[in-house]
Amino acid sequence: MSKDTSTPKKNLPKVAYFCMEYGLDTAFKAYAGGLGILAGDYLKGAKDHDYPVIGIGIKWKQGYTDQLIGKNDYPYDSYHNYQYDFLKDTGVTVTVEIKRQKVKCKVWEIDCFGNATIYLLDTDLPENPEAWTTGQLYGWFGEERVAQEIVLGIGGVKALRALNLDIDIYHFNEGHALFAGFELIREKMKKGMSYKEAKKATRKEVVFTTHTPVVQGNESHPIERLMYMGANNGLSEKQLKKIAGDPFNMTVAALKLSKVANAVAQLHGETANKMWKHVKKRAEILAITNAIHTPTWVDARMLEAAEKDGDLWSIHTENKKALIDFVKERNGVALREDVLLIGFSRRAVAYKRSDFIFTDEEIADSLFKEGKLQIVFSGRAHPLDDGGKDIVARLVAMSRKYPESVVFLENYDMTIGRMLTRGSDIWLNNPRRPKEASGTSGMKAAMNGVLNFSTLDGWWPEACKHGENGWQFGDGFECKKEKKQDAHDLKAFYKVLLNEVLPTYYEDKKKWVAMMRQSILDTKEYFAVKRMLDEYYELLYKA
Ligand SMILES: *Cc1c(COP(=O)(O)O)cnc(C)c1O
Repeated sequence: MSKDTSTPKKNLPKVAYFCMEYGLDTAFKAYAGGLGILAGDYLKGAKDHDYPVIGIGIKWKQGYTDQLIGKNDYPYDSYHNYQYDFLKDTGVTVTVEIKRQKVKCKVWEIDCFGNATIYLLDTDLPENPEAWTTGQLYGWFGEERVAQEIVLGIGGVKALRALNLDIDIYHFNEGHALFAGFELIREKMKKGMSYKEAKKATRKEVVFTTHTPVVQGNESHPIERLMYMGANNGLSEKQLKKIAGDPFNMTVAALKLSKVANAVAQLHGETANKMWKHVKKRAEILAITNAIHTPTWVDARMLEAAEKDGDLWSIHTENKKALIDFVKERNGVALREDVLLIGFSRRAVAYKRSDFIFTDEEIADSLFKEGKLQIVFSGRAHPLDDGGKDIVARLVAMSRKYPESVVFLENYDMTIGRMLTRGSDIWLNNPRRPKEASGTSGMKAAMNGVLNFSTLDGWWPEACKHGENGWQFGDGFECKKEKKQDAHDLKAFYKVLLNEVLPTYYEDKKKWVAMMRQSILDTKEYFAVKRMLDEYYELLYKA
């Protein structure tokens, strides 16, 4: 993408964006999933459009799990030490305290993927007692997580100072960065402010993005652990408790230490406000819908063909063939070009209902045995989530049952994400509303002319024109009883699949292509990262 030079970007607030993970490229193992992909896309976009945003993160020695399928058809995790020749040594080292021991953090700079500028902290130094801290992204348990968050937050602020970077706004992407707030408070107290004054001043420079609408997904720690680890950074137990209770909820704390916060889609804004209604004296939670870095994910030929009435179908067919070749190479399965191909890749976790399509065995048999439908799955479970791994195993079992039409690609990563969101015909998403915060893979698909077929969750209610640019099912139904919600959604799912999606694909290609065009035209501006940057500046940073 060419640089956007239409507006001078002088005098904009300078932002340090803190995030545990960054999805910049498959070759750089610094991400687990959607949170990291968003962060990577955001920083690439900031560079394209000349916004003064830099990233703070961690250089992970092993990254997130490489999750493979074993001979028993069950997923297992493997970790490797990675070395990168594209990281630049800034020459800067900062020191944090973990369990009363000094831990050195080396600061690396990365600027080679879409030129995003990110500083990464690394504890893997021979002199360190806690060299393992930056070993595995989201690995291990509570104490290790707190240690990692000390490096990100406290180490991150210290790195900004050591690098002499002038920062106006500290943006915490998720609660992981919270301890940066404690460091900002400590700095001010050191200069003579009282705790109260320092907290008030810190609030004016912090903004926060919350992501997970599932209560249990919001991290908390016993205050005792924070004290023992040294995460309190000089604050007392009483002060901590007053901020976010005991156990200490990181999301609540971030909401209390920021001037304004945001949820990541309009529906998520409603959900998050309900979820945190009980929290007093917190930041207002606005809704700013996520977006994607178009050059990373979207086939530019599709964008152009949609605008200029070009031949979308033949470009799409090329992308579909590329996906079919990719699957053949990886799994040895020969999928067919003339059969409707569904893509589905997400983290394997119960509410996303990955195996939904197989619920009615008779219908599944008729679809997959008679060659009407093919589906390619991918997705990793969190290494400690056995329930998630059972879901992966079930998808693998389905690929054995329907060997010609169901595929599971192991070790979901950006390469797989890119192939699937370009080469599938349909992008399926069936979470239990309202559990999906936003979801950006559907945006990638939509801009590539891959039609979304989804419950009205996450970002989809904002874009869906049923039967014109994709399909919804379930009409936004919500129910506290999961079984009831599943039964309702399943009926709706099969109905739309059998009566609308399949007939359109096989009997009305003209309409299908018109829908592809509409899908691209309806999403390419609004769900591209420039709009998100503008809204972050307008509603969070400048507010
Ligand atoms: C796009 C992407 C995601 C985020 O997708 P969701 O829609 O949030 O599931 C996660 N992982 C990878 C590898 C991606 O490419």
